[in-house]
Formats: sequence, structure tokens, C-alpha cells
Amino acid sequence: MKLIILFVIVLAVIVWLQRLKKNLGRHRSDHAASGGSAFPNGADSTAATSAQVEAMVACAHCGMHFPASEALVDASGTVFCSAEHRRLHSS
Ligand SMILES: [Zn+2]
Repeated sequence: MKLIILFVIVLAVIVWLQRLKKNLGRHRSDHAASGGSAFPNGADSTAATSAQVEAMVACAHCGMHFPASEALVDASGTVFCSAEHRRLHSS
């Protein structure tokens, strides 16, 4: 009888460890990015990673830094944050 109880406990520990391993694998990116956040999916870490990868440029008119994908570039290759700043800079 003792042996059966021991067997059940060992089985429960094995199942628990496998579940823990699965959870760790799923949340590994979260743990690496933010030190163990409680977010169920990797949405926040994905956003943080893309923000880090995104190149930042400065507006030639006001000097504000913003993602290169939102940049407005004039004929000479100068970068601006908005069409208005591009117009103001050229005039
Ligand atoms: Zn600007």
C-alpha cells in the first residue's frame, strides 16, 4: 500500500514538472525581456523587441526622435517628423 502511494506521488511530481517545463518554454521570451512578467502571451515582449529593433531618427526641424518608419524624407534626404516641419524647414 505504501508503495502505491509513493508511486502516485512520483507520478504527480513528474506530471507537474512536465507542465512546469512547458510553461517555461512558452514564457521564456517574457522572462528574458522583463524578468518574469505575468502576461499570458508574448505580446508585450514582441512589442518591446520590435521597438528596440526599430531605428530611431531625429527631425531636422524640431529634433524630436521617432521611429524611422514614420519619417518623412525630403528630396535632399533630410528627415522630418511631420509634413508641416518639412514645409517649415524648406521655406
Ligand atoms: Zn519635427
